[in-house]
Amino acid sequence: QRMQLGDAKAAEIKAVSIGKTFGAFRALKDLSLDIGRGEFLTLLGPSGSGKTTFLMILAGFTAPSEGRLMMDGKDITDVPAEDRSYGMVFQGYALFPHLTVEQNIAFPLKVRGRSSADIKRRVGEMVERVGLTGHEKKLPTKLSGGQQQRVALARALAFEPSVLLLDEPFSALDKNLREMMQEEVKRLHQETGTTFVFVTHDQSEALALSSRVAIFNHGELLQVGRPQDVYERPENRFVAEFLGEINLLPLDALRLDGDKAAGQFEDRTIVLSQTRPQIGPKAVAAVRPEHMTIAAIPQNAGHNAIACWIEDATYLGAVTKYHLKTRSGTSIAVSMPTAATAPFAHRSDVWVSWPTEQGFLLPHQNET
Ligand code: ATP
Repeated sequence: QRMQLGDAKAAEIKAVSIGKTFGAFRALKDLSLDIGRGEFLTLLGPSGSGKTTFLMILAGFTAPSEGRLMMDGKDITDVPAEDRSYGMVFQGYALFPHLTVEQNIAFPLKVRGRSSADIKRRVGEMVERVGLTGHEKKLPTKLSGGQQQRVALARALAFEPSVLLLDEPFSALDKNLREMMQEEVKRLHQETGTTFVFVTHDQSEALALSSRVAIFNHGELLQVGRPQDVYERPENRFVAEFLGEINLLPLDALRLDGDKAAGQFEDRTIVLSQTRPQIGPKAVAAVRPEHMTIAAIPQNAGHNAIACWIEDATYLGAVTKYHLKTRSGTSIAVSMPTAATAPFAHRSDVWVSWPTEQGFLLPHQNET
């Protein structure tokens, strides 16, 4: 008797101390993660960080070397992939080339022994849902990349899986099409309410789509949180730098005082918010370029104002990006809304400042 799983509309998954070794190589280290019912969780990290390995363990294609995997309170570590019955969408569309659009979408329903009336209704619904009406009889080779990916999505969702796994599904598409497909996936997630686990190495894709983002590096889960939490309060330098450009200013004479921290940078006092309970004696002040402003005179009376000169300015339409140098030669990047600022002349002396709550403290070295 086979265990029946995946009947619930959206499943909840709990990974407990998952490890994976390939020979002597540790691809995943002690990974614990709860994926909530109906959540859109993105696994984000550079190439080789272990995202796909973890997704394959979730799918049941790869057995973990250590740890357990739970779904809706049941231990599914040893349940084979076909009994987990998750939907899957991969980078290569993996459509059946000899089957038409509707035959591709019908396939998982046929395998599950659904009645032909049920299959017809469900395929019609999915074709409409992903905007492929009129293309039902076409073979995959007659479709664009975006259309093929829509077929793959429809096929993966046709049997109402409790979990949908997506591995870099849009990395082969150009930027505009990728953004369109992101919208599409976001909408499908809202409409189906299914648990989505999405793999990408693209930080903007992760921030745009997810209810939470899990950041991987070297087989370790470094941080998991809502997009605004991981972007605005990264816990270490890798997460801070992977999610976007950031200014890091080494601090001397660090003083911690409750949820505030203060230190010296080039004889100026820097005051920051401090969310890490423990930090070494050496730390850096971290501030995103869009949180800094440039002015001819210091904006804050006593702190968070640094004398700089403008090395370079790049007009990017909505924002203008400035590259500055401090007296000691530290580089600082500032991006400001073009409409809100008069351009600053090349090589002019300016002050860079930012509000206390927009800066935060990070350890000096990467602690992983
Ligand atoms: P990418 O974005 O490039 O797919 P990833 O974060 O998904 O990267 P994984 O594919 O999970 O990374 O790979 C993690 C590490 O494990 C890599 O160094 C990879 O070479 C290694 N690895 C994965 N599968 C195997 C395997 N079957 N045998 C040996 N090593 C493997």
